[in-house]
Amino acid sequence: MALLSELETARDALRGRLILPGDDSYASAARPWNLAVEQRPAGVALPSDVDDLRTLLRAAADGAFTLAVQPSGHGASSDLSGSVIVRTAAFDDLDIDLEAGVARVGGGVHWGAVVDALEGSGWVAPAGTSPVVSVAGYTLGGGHSWFSRTAGLGSDNLRAAWVLRADGSHERVDDDTDPELMWALRGAGGITGIVTALEIDLVRAPAVWGTGLTYDASDAEAVIRAVRDLADDAPPSVNVFVDSMRLPDAPELPAEIRGRSFLTVQVLAVDGEPAALVERLRAAGTVRREVAGPTSPGALAAASNEPTDPTPGRGASAALSHLDDAVLADLLRFRAHDDNWPIMGIGMRLLGGALDAPKRPGLASLQGAAWLLHALVPVFPGVPSEPGDASIAGFERVLAPALAPQTVPTFLGPGQTLELCAGEQSIEKLRALRDAVDPNGVLHEGRLPR
Ligand SMILES: Cc1cc2nc3c(=O)[nH]c(=O)nc-3n(C[C@H](O)[C@H](O)[C@H](O)COP(=O)(O)OP(=O)(O)OC[C@H]3O[C@@H](n4cnc5c(N)ncnc54)[C@H](O)[C@@H]3O)c2cc1C
Repeated sequence: MALLSELETARDALRGRLILPGDDSYASAARPWNLAVEQRPAGVALPSDVDDLRTLLRAAADGAFTLAVQPSGHGASSDLSGSVIVRTAAFDDLDIDLEAGVARVGGGVHWGAVVDALEGSGWVAPAGTSPVVSVAGYTLGGGHSWFSRTAGLGSDNLRAAWVLRADGSHERVDDDTDPELMWALRGAGGITGIVTALEIDLVRAPAVWGTGLTYDASDAEAVIRAVRDLADDAPPSVNVFVDSMRLPDAPELPAEIRGRSFLTVQVLAVDGEPAALVERLRAAGTVRREVAGPTSPGALAAASNEPTDPTPGRGASAALSHLDDAVLADLLRFRAHDDNWPIMGIGMRLLGGALDAPKRPGLASLQGAAWLLHALVPVFPGVPSEPGDASIAGFERVLAPALAPQTVPTFLGPGQTLELCAGEQSIEKLRALRDAVDPNGVLHEGRLPR
């Protein structure tokens, strides 16, 4: 049957909604959270339940279109023409079981809901820095969290999932019932099934402590070296984030930060203040501002200044195997160069700890990597994109000598594929698994082009 008539038939059969080109709400429904990515899907489905998802699977098989699960489009990446986007907002169950240390989370739940539910409980979630990212999209793409040195990747904490397979069967899978599928779900996104719910390990955090130190940019080299050198001594309970900020001289910004460059180091521990380690960082430069005390993931999210409304975002990321003095010097020289003004922030996350000993097998892994870096180029209306593109390319060039063999899928940019996240054998294994579970290609190819 032709695509359009198949879609119209499916629309009539759904309890939820299917929005098609020509409908008034199509443009807003199709728009991803990352407004820098344009997508024109064949439709946008808002299924109500698993039966609706089955109806969509059947229609896709008959109408020769694919289904692309996209709760919101934070990770919007590829061409979706000829695909129907599946928004999972109706799958909104959330059940926290502190006895078992597990959160049971529907496929449409955002991290903010889990984080809020855990405030004050002595447990934290293996969540990323943004409360509006979906638990499913983050966890199925690896996911690096505030607490990854303590608890590993988000995907390492995926205990089980309820999966609707391309053949319409829907069941709970874990490492005993289907270890191959679980391996793929821990990093490959939605290319092997539609996840309607997940079971996620929670992380014991009896006393979350945060210290934020701000230095002038001129102290960056000494301070980043000090962070690097404490990696050998820091226990896994300690997590460290470094941010190099260079703010534009824009009248909208407060005078005290406008046009300024500075460096912040955030140290987060799950078991109280790591006083001796923080003292080493204090001594590495002149601390211009210090904030320290008990904190919580909710407070961290509120203070992180991550955008919560849809935003156009561009940037680049890289996992590094090391950050020796030569690479660090090159990076700081690059950072200081006026041509690279479009890069507003460079975030640097210290890896190691639990990331080096994943507790479950998965496609995503940062084992053996030392740092995860991300450069952010804000998109301003009317500002040409070329200087930003050039600085992103320069950032990638500077880091090339230190690249780790793999990075984590949630840090990939639009168009980048899973080949950057796993070795050849793993990619072959993933392709074979996908061919077996979705022989007719009903699910969108995601970050692994067919
Ligand atoms: C402001 C911001 C901050 C971020 N911070 C972090 C961070 O700290 N750490 C980190 O690791 N990442 C971070 N990310 C990246 C984010 O985790 C990824 O983009 C993630 O994939 C987003 O998931 P989503 O479901 O919200 O997005 P979407 O783009 O809607 O989905 C991404 C992919 O997830 C898969 N998927 C989602 N739900 C399902 C499902 N139910 N069944 C099957 N497949 C599914 C699909 O393959 C889909 O393409 C951040 C992103 C933003 C925009």
